Formats: sequence, structure tokens, C-alpha cells
Amino acid sequence: MKIFKFGGASVNSVDRIKSMADIVDQYAADNLVIIVSAMGKTTNALEKVAESFYNNKLEESIGLFNTIKQQHITTAKYLLVTKLTACLEQLNQFFTEVEWLLHDKPVRQYDYYYDQIVSVGELMSTCIVSHYLNERKIANEWLDVRDLLRTDNNFRDAGIDWQITAEKVLQSVQKKNHSIYITQGFIGSTDENESTTLGREGSDYTAAIFANILDAESLTIWKDVEGVMNADPKTYKDAQLISELSFNEVIEMAYYGAQVIHPKTIKPLQNKGIALNVKCFLDATLPGTVIQAKAVKELPPIIVYKEHQAIIHLFSKDFSFVGEEPMATLYKLLSNLKLKPNLIQTGAINVQLCLDDKPDRLEALAFSANELFDVSIEKGLTLLTIRHYTKELFEELTKDKQIVLQQMTGETVQALIK
Ligand code: ASP
Ligand code: MG
Repeated sequence: MKIFKFGGASVNSVDRIKSMADIVDQYAADNLVIIVSAMGKTTNALEKVAESFYNNKLEESIGLFNTIKQQHITTAKYLLVTKLTACLEQLNQFFTEVEWLLHDKPVRQYDYYYDQIVSVGELMSTCIVSHYLNERKIANEWLDVRDLLRTDNNFRDAGIDWQITAEKVLQSVQKKNHSIYITQGFIGSTDENESTTLGREGSDYTAAIFANILDAESLTIWKDVEGVMNADPKTYKDAQLISELSFNEVIEMAYYGAQVIHPKTIKPLQNKGIALNVKCFLDATLPGTVIQAKAVKELPPIIVYKEHQAIIHLFSKDFSFVGEEPMATLYKLLSNLKLKPNLIQTGAINVQLCLDDKPDRLEALAFSANELFDVSIEKGLTLLTIRHYTKELFEELTKDKQIVLQQMTGETVQALIK
């Protein structure tokens, strides 16, 4: 059993869906579960629908949704002949789900509506892809992942109920050759059949959940890049492909801002020792990147940037940092506010924390911490992380930049930059 994940860019147009089908066709004798994201920027467009609905702009939300509907209908019409009617019927069911909701006045939290609306993106894309593959005689079964992937009701960042999900996945997916399943990434459902989402870019995570539960031999994430690069080619001209990486390395990269793979993806794979391949859907013959447990020697420097960082300076009012209590209090505050520092520096009478700038939470932290410390916050910073750095590279990347905080260990250098 292999798990494939195709992201939004790989199903973004009629041609892309055709090439995706060419790739699947090469593996059609295998046993595959294929996780697909919403087409292109559909999720962003659906977010706008949810916003205008929640702001009581009914007509605007219906208008925006109509545009999305038409795009999907048009794609289906270009792709399909014999399966067109069946596909349009199924699409219509999803449209109706959303339109019903849009005609009510919002009475619940925004995040609930967000999930009910935004989840339709993956339902629509997988519906079209599945019909198209079937029309091309690549027999497959479409699964509504909301019947399998059970979550809590923490809308927009739902947590998986692993036990129920495992039971349902194992009941629905047969492990035998020539059996191919198509299902949605990113979405799930509560025990009350409300749709949920797992956080933006969460389809990678869905694929890892399936891989873990099904003990897959591998997960392949098909992307529009050659594989994992050591830096973003848009910002660093000498970016190069890394052909082999360890899970640890990737989790560090993802944590510090590399847009490679959703950070939650690694644990389910690492726990079962399942290899993760990152391959290019534009040219399936390229080797891509293989990510697995074993450490890889001699990696090039890996450069990642994380934006929207803030630094919070805490000065102890009475020199009490010398004791243990203030630090314990600070960590308690952080955990209550679900804040995780990206960098910490402690001194005799002060602490500096670099954190993601999450709306309202930093202010809440500052407010609570103010009882013990003098607090100041600075925002709009970028955290540069270089693993396996050289001094020259670090100097090159920080030349003419104002560094607010810097830390170096044997392998890694980090600088918070203004
Ligand atoms: N469609 C969702 C998003 O754009 C999930 C994903 O692509 O992984 O965030
Ligand atoms: Mg995506």
C-alpha cells in the first residue's frame, strides 16, 4: 500500500489533472490511497465566502460562492464526457450543502461556519478527479473522508480521534492490488457530523494519518518543485535540491518556517518508520527527496526564514530572576495561552522570548506578565535559521541587517532580524 498526496497546484487546471492521472496510471496495479487538496486557490476563495457570510453580507457571499461553483463546473465539463452527469450531480450535492447554510443567519462561532464552508473545496476537487480517473479506466473508489476521519470540535484546528479514525479507515480501505481510493485532505468530521478542518495546508497531515493507520510502505507528496530544497529559490539564488533527509532535519526546517511539509506530518510517519518521498508532479522521472529516520551526513547549509515574529522583553522588577519561581510562572503563562517560544535567552535580570505574532495572545501574555516583570514587545521581525551553517554564509545573509537576538550552537545559528 502506498499513499499519494496531490496538493492544490497539481489539480489546478484541466491539464494538471490530466497529468496527475498519467502519474496515477503508472501505479494503477498498486494499492493506493490518494489524498487530494482543493484546486489551486479555492481554499482562499472559500475563506472569503465564509467571511462575508459571517459579516452578514449574504449577496456577496452567494456571489463569491457562485464563481467558485462555476469554476468547478467548467473544469468538470472540459474533463469529462461519459461521467459528466454523475459528476455534476455529486457536485450539486456539495453546492447545496453550502447554499443551505448561507441562507441562515450566523448564530454560532465563526470557526464553525468557516469549516462548514471551506471543507467543500476538497470535496469538489476529489469528486472531479475521481470521476475523471474512472472515465480513463483507472478504477477507483471515492471516499468522503468525513465518514472516516473523526475529530474533536476544535474547528479550524481539529484534533484527531485516532482510535475511531483507525477503526473506520481499516473498515473502508481494502489492502489489495488494483485497488485505488481517492479522498480529501485537510477535512474531517465530529461525532455530530459537523465538518472540521485540520489547519491550513493540512492535507499532508491527512496523508500521514492514512499512512500510519494503514501501515503504508511509503507516502509520496507530489509537488510543483523538484523536491526539498535547502533554501527558497525565490530568495536564495544558490538553492539546491537535497536528495535525502532525516525526519529530525525536516521537522526542524518546518518548525522554523520552511514551507516544505506541514509540521504535523512527520510524527505519524516517524512512529511507524514510513518513508516520505517528495516528488515533482511536473516530471515524475526526477528522483525527488527521500525523508526517513536515519540521519544524513554532509548536508548543505539549510536556510529558512520565519516571518511575523515578535520579541518580548521581560525585566524582573526586583532582581528575582535569580530564583526559580519567575521562570516557572512564565512557562505556565505561555502554556495557558498556547504560546511556544521559537527562541529564548535568559540573563540575570531579564528574559527575551521570540514568538510567532499571534493576534491578541502576545498582548494577553504581556498583560499577565506585567504583574511580575517590566514588559516590552517589538513586532514585525523575521527569524532566520541556518542549519549546518558556515560563518561566511551567516555573515552574507545578515549583512546590512539589524540583529535583535542571535544564538549559535554547533549545528545551528539563528538570528532575529529587523
Ligand atoms: N486546501 C487546504 C489549504 O489550502 C489544505 C491543503 O492544501 O493542504 O490550506
Ligand atoms: Mg495546498
